Amino acid sequence: MSLIAAKLIWALGCVAWFIIRYPHQHRARKTPVAQRAARLRERVLLTTSSCGLGVVPLIYVLTEEPRFANFPFQPVLAFAGTVVFAAALALFYRIHRELGRSWSVTLELRDQHVLVTDGLYRHLRHPMYSAFWLWALAQVLLLPNWIAGPAGLVGFGILFFCRVGAEERMMLAAFGDDYRAYMARTKRIIPGIY
Ligand code: SAH
Repeated sequence: MSLIAAKLIWALGCVAWFIIRYPHQHRARKTPVAQRAARLRERVLLTTSSCGLGVVPLIYVLTEEPRFANFPFQPVLAFAGTVVFAAALALFYRIHRELGRSWSVTLELRDQHVLVTDGLYRHLRHPMYSAFWLWALAQVLLLPNWIAGPAGLVGFGILFFCRVGAEERMMLAAFGDDYRAYMARTKRIIPGIY
């Protein structure tokens, strides 16, 4: 595999993610919201994550900048990155279907919000965030640049650690003992570990 191919795979992965998400985003716009978390904070977190997973790597892919942070391309890493990105996309596809109308880009509760505890949600409380972590890892493996590669881990990591506690508190407030019991039998993003 060449560097150009690795960059192309990264870009195609981003486009595929957009296509997977699009119908859900479209439906979400029409699904009434019952409760919404602090908007500005959510906006800042989403922007941070988009910079790390989108803007910074895109600049690198198009311009090779920042050049001082480039390191030699390793095909074996890029192959691994392709496999990880494919796994992330498969996970995104499945989770969007499982979460259905309970899904939203920001923290919010729908009218008659349904608590999903089946499918992958039987094992993990935040499988969609697992998929984003995999995407961020794929970016590190595909792009041989010390800044553009890890930018996704940093950008999404900030969103994840600033949001996940608030999300669980919101779910606890809405679903009480049901969510408490669900928390007791599940992990956040890595089965059996965290
Ligand atoms: N954190 C989850 C969902 C991300 S989408 C994941 O990583 O898979 C964010 C929205 O999902 C939140 O606004 C919340 O309302 C909703 N949500 C989170 N966990 C849920 C669950 N188990 N059932 C239903 N909705 C959930």
